[in-house]
Amino acid sequence: MKSLGLLFGHNAVLLVILTIAWPVVRLLGVHAGPMPPWWVVILQILIFLYVDDFLTYWAHKALHVGWFFKKIHSIHHRVSHPSAMDNSYFHFAEFLILMATGQVAPLLMGANIYVIWIWLAIRIWQSVVGHCGYAFWWDPVRLVPLYEGGDYHYFHHIDARGNISGILPYLDRIWGAVAPKYAIYKGERLGGKRRFLKLRWNPSQAVARRQPSSRGK
Ligand SMILES: [Zn+2]
Ligand SMILES: [Zn+2]
Repeated sequence: MKSLGLLFGHNAVLLVILTIAWPVVRLLGVHAGPMPPWWVVILQILIFLYVDDFLTYWAHKALHVGWFFKKIHSIHHRVSHPSAMDNSYFHFAEFLILMATGQVAPLLMGANIYVIWIWLAIRIWQSVVGHCGYAFWWDPVRLVPLYEGGDYHYFHHIDARGNISGILPYLDRIWGAVAPKYAIYKGERLGGKRRFLKLRWNPSQAVARRQPSSRGK
C-alpha cells in the first residue's frame, strides 16, 4: 500500500509540474508535430537510453554518499527484495532526480513529444522489470546492446552495494563495482541454462551446492 501511495502521489505531483513546465519545454524545441521516420525514432530512443543510464549512474553513486543516502536514498533501500510495485518507492527528491536524468537528452535534442512518450513507457518498463524479481528472456529491452537484464538492479537491492548502474553494467565493470552475489548468480544461471528464474533465494546456498560433496568418500 505504501508503494501504491508513493506511485500515485509522485506521479500526481509530476503531472502538475509537467503541465506548468510545458511552455518552457516547448521553448527548448520539444514539439507535437509530425513523427520522424521509424529509424530516427529508434536511434533517438537509443541515445536517450544511453545518456540516461550514464547520468543516472553518477546520480545514483552520489545518492549512496553520507547525507544523501541517509536523508534520501535510504528510503528506496528499505526494500531489500523488491517487487514490480516498488519501482517508485523513492523519496520525492530522488523521483525528481531520476525523471530529470531521463529527460536531459530529449530536451537537448528537441524531440517529438510522442517519441518522448514511447521513451517514457520503455523507461518505466525497465524500472518495473528491474524490481520485479524475475529475469524474463523475452524482455524486449534485451535487444539493446550492453543491456544485461532486469535482474541486474535487483541485486543492488539485496546488499545495497554494487550494481550501481541502472540497466547497462559497463560502468560497474570499469569501476569494479559488480555485486559479488550477482556474479555468483550469473555463473549459476548460465551454467544451469535457466531462462526464467525467481531470484528470492539465498546465494550462500548456491555456493554450498557448488562445493564438492563429502559424502561417499
Ligand atoms: Zn531500485
Ligand atoms: Zn542504491
